[in-house]
Amino acid sequence: MRILLAEDDALLGDALSRSLRQSGYSVDWARDGQDANLALSDQVYALVILDLGLPKMDGFEVLRLLRARGSKLPVIILTAREALADRVKGLDLGADDYLAKPFDMPELEARLRALIRRGNEVTTPEINYGSLAFNPVERSVNIGGVPLELSAREIGVLELLLLRAGRAVSKEALVEHLCSWDDEMGDNAIEVYVHRLRKKLEPAGVQIRTVRGLGYMFDKYND
Ligand code: CA
Repeated sequence: MRILLAEDDALLGDALSRSLRQSGYSVDWARDGQDANLALSDQVYALVILDLGLPKMDGFEVLRLLRARGSKLPVIILTAREALADRVKGLDLGADDYLAKPFDMPELEARLRALIRRGNEVTTPEINYGSLAFNPVERSVNIGGVPLELSAREIGVLELLLLRAGRAVSKEALVEHLCSWDDEMGDNAIEVYVHRLRKKLEPAGVQIRTVRGLGYMFDKYND
């Protein structure tokens, strides 16, 4: 999952991005509102964590412009604990959730998972497909209860394919899902991950089909 973090506080931003990366997210960290707005205009994210008090362009304006472009991207705003008016204004402008500073990481991460699930129309915390089960909290995968060993990137590829099972996912979308600004990855790398996943997923009775010109699609075997 690739997420945008818009936060100007260096300490908080650093702690947040590090903690989120450890949890398996790709994180782009924008340090002011203009950068956040630019990133949201031309990158694909699963979610944005938006501080309201940002230099150059405040979080309200970033949010207003995002919704004005018709984006339904899940947004969680970070506000000061006592700033009730800010929370109301943020929610009215189209934020999906808020968290008052200071907050605990486990709470933020639980809210992120809930928003991402809702954004992908997945309602159960564990994603099941045939005998395959993916736990987004532990980032673990098992087939019929037997744990499957996958690298973080393989899990990232599988996660997006699972969230969009039955629909084609482009290589570009997979690269964007896996990479933050600090990384670079080519289509070739995606092909390698998919190749490995196909082998490892064989016993589950599921397949990653190549959809010509469109990308990949996660599906059950129907032969
Ligand atoms: Ca701030």
